[in-house]
Amino acid sequence: MDNLALQCQCGTVRGRAIKVYPVDGTRVVCYCRDCQAFAHALNAADRILDAEGGTDIYQLPPARLQIHHGHDQIRCLRLSEKGLYRWYAGCCNTPIGNTLGPGMPLVGLIHAFISDPDAEFKTGPVRALVNLSSATGTVPREKVRAAPAKGYMRKILFKIALWKLGGKTHPNPFFAGKKPITEPQIVSPGSTV
Ligand SMILES: [Zn+2]
Ligand SMILES: [Zn+2]
Repeated sequence: MDNLALQCQCGTVRGRAIKVYPVDGTRVVCYCRDCQAFAHALNAADRILDAEGGTDIYQLPPARLQIHHGHDQIRCLRLSEKGLYRWYAGCCNTPIGNTLGPGMPLVGLIHAFISDPDAEFKTGPVRALVNLSSATGTVPREKVRAAPAKGYMRKILFKIALWKLGGKTHPNPFFAGKKPITEPQIVSPGSTV
């Protein structure tokens, strides 16, 4: 198991993911419209989305994500009142990750915040392509075959249950108790921050 170095594009927000293990298999590419809207809201689609509008996301529990520098630059947006909490570095509009509420032991860490030169080796390959129906282009067949979404949902739900039981919901770098560390800004899809 390894640590994974994390930093925003300008280097102000820095941290690491701990206990990263390639066979863990929690890396996905999400093609949903909201992940695309998040990239566009940050005016950073070219840095975040792949050729078919996918976002490469490494899923881990909050207790394994540590931010060491630049807390005051962490910002949050939501695409609706009830939307995911989407975290980013305000200094340079680098997306950090997505979370549900404070009680949910899951962070979707976005590749643009991963600065580790060995990230590909440490996180292992993409295991599932999810929300393919919202892809903005035709995803190559081999890519779909190599990472089928089928079965992944059950696997991640099982992991979430384990993480919850294992006490990995806290500490959570994005919430102080039940409150987000910064007031989320509601940004409707199509707008920018
Ligand atoms: Zn930055
Ligand atoms: Zn998505």
